[in-house]
Amino acid sequence: MNFNKLSFGATVGIIGGGQLGKMMAQSAQKMGYRVIVLDPDAECPCQHVAHEFINAPYDDMEALEQLGEQSDVITYEFENISAPQLKALVSRYNIPQGYQAIELLQDRLTEKQSLQAAGTQIVPFEQLTEPSDIERAVDKLGYPFMVKTRFGGYDGKGQILVQSEDDLDEARTLIENQECVAEQFVDLAKEVSLTVTIGNDNQITYFPLQENEHQNQILFKTIVPARSDKEAEARDEVKKITDYIHFVGTFTVEFFIDRDNHLYVNEIAPRPHNSGHYSIEACDYSQFDTHILAVTGQQLPQEIEILKPAVMMNLLGRDLDLLEDQFGDHPEWHVHIYGKTKRKPDRKMGHMTILTNDVDQTEREMLQRFEGRNQ
Ligand code: ADP
Ligand code: MG
Repeated sequence: MNFNKLSFGATVGIIGGGQLGKMMAQSAQKMGYRVIVLDPDAECPCQHVAHEFINAPYDDMEALEQLGEQSDVITYEFENISAPQLKALVSRYNIPQGYQAIELLQDRLTEKQSLQAAGTQIVPFEQLTEPSDIERAVDKLGYPFMVKTRFGGYDGKGQILVQSEDDLDEARTLIENQECVAEQFVDLAKEVSLTVTIGNDNQITYFPLQENEHQNQILFKTIVPARSDKEAEARDEVKKITDYIHFVGTFTVEFFIDRDNHLYVNEIAPRPHNSGHYSIEACDYSQFDTHILAVTGQQLPQEIEILKPAVMMNLLGRDLDLLEDQFGDHPEWHVHIYGKTKRKPDRKMGHMTILTNDVDQTEREMLQRFEGRNQ
């Protein structure tokens, strides 16, 4: 597909003004675009970064239309916007990403069904519509398994681990409130992710395979290049997905690798992703640069080059408490602070990227630095 090529000075509209919107806006501004952001939180990270700011809920159709009228292209920083509303906007404004990816991927059930239909390898799952469906999950999947809400989960929110009969009541209560899916628990050897950008004429540009560690289901660190032999296989899986789902711009596929070295697709984020933040310093194009190039109809770089291996550490509220006094002494940490006004222990407040020729050594050093974080 070919879409509008924008000239510099054109306006990029972004739905969502969190850290992803902010970093997108900064890439767009570097390239000479104006940026207008819509977010319900008047204190969001984008508020002082965007040229213009619309303070309104994501489902405020009038505000979305105002964004459409004032923008030459619309993009989004997160997937939980309303698919029907996006669909209504797509017919009237320039939204090269369309609504299909959002519609399929904001629901874990249709996401899994799509991944299955695309022929990718995924972890066995069961649909849970009613509390009594949990018995079928126990039968088919066996303990332990995860129960995840179909909609609205992120950073492990809306998920429980069911290890035995003792956890079934908690699972039933979750399902009573919201439809869920159950998913076999994977004995993880490693998690990796692949960030990809799709541009005009379906040009596809891959970032290097990223190795991720989560703590309490929130991304803790990313190491690039991943210490894994799965890059080619991961690209093959991504190719199957892009043959099935229409993507434009930057998105990330998360994978599990189990103890038998089997690769499974976990989930897809149809937007720039936390595990791609290292690319700002470590690559010749960041995931935000390529996203803006794609949605503004420019040519993408064919290859992304890693300038230096990198370790990216997330900075949650608890990590800022621990480390902020040290930032001034460590220019090599490349600290990013998102500008959120409220600090909470598990809230992503920033991240830092360390470029290194000795990833193992830097990783050890970082683990020591972060050791004192309150769990
Ligand atoms: P989110 O939308 O919150 O990122 P994920 O499904 O990616 O949801 O889960 C977050 C993290 O929780 C994963 O990256 C992984 O570390 C852990 N996790 C989730 N599902 C499983 C599973 N089935 N087996 C093992 N670990 C899991
Ligand atoms: Mg995830």
